Amino acid sequence: MFDTLLVANRGEIACRVMRTARAMGLRCVAVYSEADAGAMHVAMADTAVCIGGAAPADSYLCGDRIIAAALETGAGAIHPGYGFLSENPEFVRDVEAAGLVFVGPTESAIRAMGLKDAAKRLMADAGVPVVPGYMGEDQDPGHLEVEAGKAGYPVLIKAVAGGGGKGMRLVERAEDFVDALERAKAEARGAFGNDAVLIEKYIQRPRHIEVQVFGDGTRAVHLFERDCSLQRRHQKVIEEAPAPGMTEGMRAAMGAAAVRAAEAIGYRGAGTVEFIVDGANGLREDGFWFMEMNTRLQVEHPVTEEICGVDLVEWQLRVAGGEALPCGQEDLSIMGHSFEARLYAEDVPAGFLPATGRLAELAFPDGVRAETGVRSGDVISPHYDPMIAKLVVHGPSRAVALRKLAAGLRATRVAGTVTNLAFLGALAEHEGFGRGEVDTGLIARDLDALVAAPEVTAGHWAEAALAALDLLEAEGWEVGFSLWGAAARTVVLAHGEDRRDVCVTVSGAGVADVMVDGQAVACRRGASGWTFDGVPGGGVFVEGSAVTVYAGYGLRFDVVDPLDQQAEAAAGGATLAPMPGRVVSVHVHPGQEVAAGDRLAVLEAMKMEHTLTAAVDGVVAEVLVREGDQVEAGAPLVVLDEAE
Ligand code: ADP
Ligand code: ADP
Ligand code: MG
Repeated sequence: MFDTLLVANRGEIACRVMRTARAMGLRCVAVYSEADAGAMHVAMADTAVCIGGAAPADSYLCGDRIIAAALETGAGAIHPGYGFLSENPEFVRDVEAAGLVFVGPTESAIRAMGLKDAAKRLMADAGVPVVPGYMGEDQDPGHLEVEAGKAGYPVLIKAVAGGGGKGMRLVERAEDFVDALERAKAEARGAFGNDAVLIEKYIQRPRHIEVQVFGDGTRAVHLFERDCSLQRRHQKVIEEAPAPGMTEGMRAAMGAAAVRAAEAIGYRGAGTVEFIVDGANGLREDGFWFMEMNTRLQVEHPVTEEICGVDLVEWQLRVAGGEALPCGQEDLSIMGHSFEARLYAEDVPAGFLPATGRLAELAFPDGVRAETGVRSGDVISPHYDPMIAKLVVHGPSRAVALRKLAAGLRATRVAGTVTNLAFLGALAEHEGFGRGEVDTGLIARDLDALVAAPEVTAGHWAEAALAALDLLEAEGWEVGFSLWGAAARTVVLAHGEDRRDVCVTVSGAGVADVMVDGQAVACRRGASGWTFDGVPGGGVFVEGSAVTVYAGYGLRFDVVDPLDQQAEAAAGGATLAPMPGRVVSVHVHPGQEVAAGDRLAVLEAMKMEHTLTAAVDGVVAEVLVREGDQVEAGAPLVVLDEAE
């Protein structure tokens, strides 16, 4: 067995893998890009090797440099985490050719599951139910259209090389097929360099239920199911185990099908068999179909660990070291219920745009398992996935676990960047979700309510104002008070677009009265802290002119210097990049007339595309970017002269 492990990844998964490796007495080697020199996974490792530039293609995707780093540092094995090289068969081949152990499946197992069409054919042959549709090699558009008709609308067009929800198109009516096919193929070509597609019947009220499997190359067991139906644009948001409403019969049927899938390809290590389930008429033993197999440890593996009481990374390392399966199927059982929520730096009101920024403060409450790869002070950079953490909870029942999730989200503190925390909180408190009524359309149906901004009260403005004036701390009180000489002072605060003059009148230590837009708030300091009109304050974090009040999942206020106020008006007719990203396409040229709502350009960051449209009618004065350009958030892209 190896005694040193190289982890070929970054962020939370690199930290997660090292935690277990360390507990098993292994020495850990990290690799990192120049952008990650100060990252948590580097600090955690015994040894760390810089493997190149910030872009994944210059570092985390450079298999040869990673293998060289392993050889240099005496590592005997490489754990790929998820993403990056984890499902790359050539990498596995090269790792093994270098005499190292790849912690994961064989090259051939990854290849067998690499393309969705071939994987589905293989699974159908092995007796696993697959989604009805066309998965053949004839890519003639006319032929595909005939096949779509046979499957019956609505259908889903999927890139065979697809992943991460990309390259998929839902087609509701036959007359839209040709157009949708063209667009799906173009997207697949751009993202995967392979424009082959398959056609699938679109399952109504779909639920995504997947089965965790684990094999030793011959035999496999399953560790029950996870329900990942809470998705936004085909990307998972909250996952849970077990699946609500699951029956013993269906669980046994799905588990057996997943084990059959794994054993059909001699699967070794941790893998996930994803099924789509028809949730329209309750869960039935004949109502699930294979979608794809992910030949790696999955992002949401912790919920399985929580209900099964196992450490999947420990199993991976033991099997990679030559041990047989740690236990048999009969040794596994489900204990209680677990949820995971994915916390991202993301601007939800702006349409879930990935965000960047320095995490001025990051803190998680007791009672949640927070899987993270960043700490207070770390930066969410534009180069990688903007995930901040995964919050994992466990409880004896679904209701208890869900309550713990809601409480954990409410008590999580993030200052310095926008997050999807409020959105996750709204989901955790969603009534239908609480009743276990999940399907992949839930988020889209209730989006408006789920993204509604938390209410900001006069008390929150008052707490922010006292924080801005440094009056919340007992010592700050005396200093701030005596320095002014006067007992009242006005501070201008902004919360998003909302800007208010807040007047603070101090009448003694621990006693202040605040006027917010004509509304008085009595602020008092008692033994257990400040109250605002009798309501306990949420607590604050102050950095520079930014004040975060920890209420409503973190409310950000900025102290406005009145002298700076005019400067902002200047931006004028320029359309700015709302996020850092790559310009996918530009749709206008100088001199062109546009109407409000016309498409100007398309930006891409992480896994999402964002279309920028004209805010007003006008004429294009300047186009400042070209296709392929990398831009920072706030960079001007197109300038319009507004029509009279
Ligand atoms: P999983 O199925 O393991 O939950 P997903 O389906 O969400 O993972 O994503 C598929 C792959 O894409 C994973 O290997 C993951 O590393 C990667 N990934 C997930 N989210 C992002 C993101 N925001 N940006 C880039 N890659 C991502
Ligand atoms: P990816 O490789 O991008 O993860 P998947 O094939 O796993 O692609 O599909 C991603 C998501 O799309 C699923 O989790 C599910 O929400 C939805 N989906 C996929 N196939 C179907 C289908 N046939 N009917 C309805 N929804 C589907
Ligand atoms: Mg999938």
